[in-house]
Amino acid sequence: MQHAPSVWLTTANPAPQLPQLDQGIQTDVAIIGAGYTGLAAAHHLRRAGVACIVLEANDVGWGASGRNGGMAVLRYKKSWAALARELGRERTRHLHRLLHQAVDLLEQTVDEYRIDCAFARYGHITAANGKRALATLTADAEWLAAEAGDRAPRMLDARETADLTGTSCYLGGYLDPRAGGIHPLNYARGFAAGLSAAGVPIYVGTAVDTLREEASGGVVLETSNAVVRAKQVLVATNAYTDLREYGTDLSRRIVPVSTSVITTAPLPASALAAIVRERHLVSDTRHLLNYFRIAPGDRLLYGGRGSLTGRQSPEVYRGLEAKLRETFPALAGVEIDHRWSGKVAVTLDDFPHVGRVSPRIAYAMGYGGRGVALTQLLGKMLAHLAMGELNDPGPMNGGAFRPIPLHALRIPAMKAVAGYYRLLDGLRL
Ligand SMILES: Cc1cc2nc3c(=O)[nH]c(=O)nc-3n(C[C@H](O)[C@H](O)[C@H](O)COP(=O)(O)OP(=O)(O)OC[C@H]3O[C@@H](n4cnc5c(N)ncnc54)[C@H](O)[C@@H]3O)c2cc1C
Repeated sequence: MQHAPSVWLTTANPAPQLPQLDQGIQTDVAIIGAGYTGLAAAHHLRRAGVACIVLEANDVGWGASGRNGGMAVLRYKKSWAALARELGRERTRHLHRLLHQAVDLLEQTVDEYRIDCAFARYGHITAANGKRALATLTADAEWLAAEAGDRAPRMLDARETADLTGTSCYLGGYLDPRAGGIHPLNYARGFAAGLSAAGVPIYVGTAVDTLREEASGGVVLETSNAVVRAKQVLVATNAYTDLREYGTDLSRRIVPVSTSVITTAPLPASALAAIVRERHLVSDTRHLLNYFRIAPGDRLLYGGRGSLTGRQSPEVYRGLEAKLRETFPALAGVEIDHRWSGKVAVTLDDFPHVGRVSPRIAYAMGYGGRGVALTQLLGKMLAHLAMGELNDPGPMNGGAFRPIPLHALRIPAMKAVAGYYRLLDGLRL
């Protein structure tokens, strides 16, 4: 299947030349999916000297990993203060350390494989749409300073937020200078090229159609053209887990939600001097959130909710364009030159999960639009799980990750929730 028509595709480095699997093969660990999770798992297995292969239905980075916003942010969906209330101080501190490890792993991988993906610690602004959201962000900065000794994030008043973002529609913001940004498809391609050069076989155009556990031990994977025998299987297919029904219930443990992105045509120097002039990555505090950053070719990238049914429609892009122009009225006449969509995997508790479906099949998934950094961490944990050792993933362990009741009714349920969220967002709390 073709890559999404994203700005990342039109500005990408060439894809590494990788084969399709066309004959039977045996390995210790077979990884399904060549996005960030699968590649990270392969990287850590390779380092430990464990034989592994990666099987990808489409192309490296074809899923969310090649078409996302490229923003490695240092926040979970829930605020720090809310997490501390829910999970206690120690577990929240642990979650804070894990998120920093995740962004550090991303940076280390870029360095180790010399990946040309414009990685930089651009910094991330969470821009508040309402007073309650601003109070939550302020409480977060205070919690981190008091309870985790982390004084790096700082609050911005409305004037500074307007100055740094180029729009006066926010009441203030929370700036974490350590958040990283990447060219997402170049990261996936560079990572795969590095692994392949280091001897990890990656097969593209090779969909896993069925998984069968054998009584004698091991798993048989039937792919489009050949059969793979592995001691263990790692499922790294995230929101695209339903691409092929290969016999686990994992696709019913997540809800795939479509999200859409547009970019403007290259902006003139005058606009670039005013809009995210220091190249920060920005997202807002709406339930149906919007985010933006500067993309290659001096374009403004602007993302938000996609179609609830997952079907592409011009209306979704019209809605996104209207939001962009509402945020930046000065861009009223600017042409939109890329429009694309992709799927994120939402979970009931807003955390991704790593765990096992059986003694031989493990998974990591459910990043909910926050996987650029967390995939590096959960991919590593997945590799360690395959090797029989899993460091404490806190609430991201697979314990509470079960098939969602009434999964078949998710689209009407999502429509109802989206309507409710639109109402809340309109109130600008
Ligand atoms: C538009 C968009 C914007 C986003 N922006 C951000 C952002 O700015 N910051 C952030 O942190 N996160 C963001 N995300 C989320 C982030 O991109 C994902 O969490 C992350 O890329 C997930 O990586 P993955 O490797 O787990 O899955 P994916 O990259 O989706 O890879 C899964 C792969 O599995 C393959 N596959 C599926 N079934 C099979 C099969 N049967 N056999 C073989 N292969 C199979 C698919 O072809 C696919 O390539 C965004 C996502 C989208 C869609």
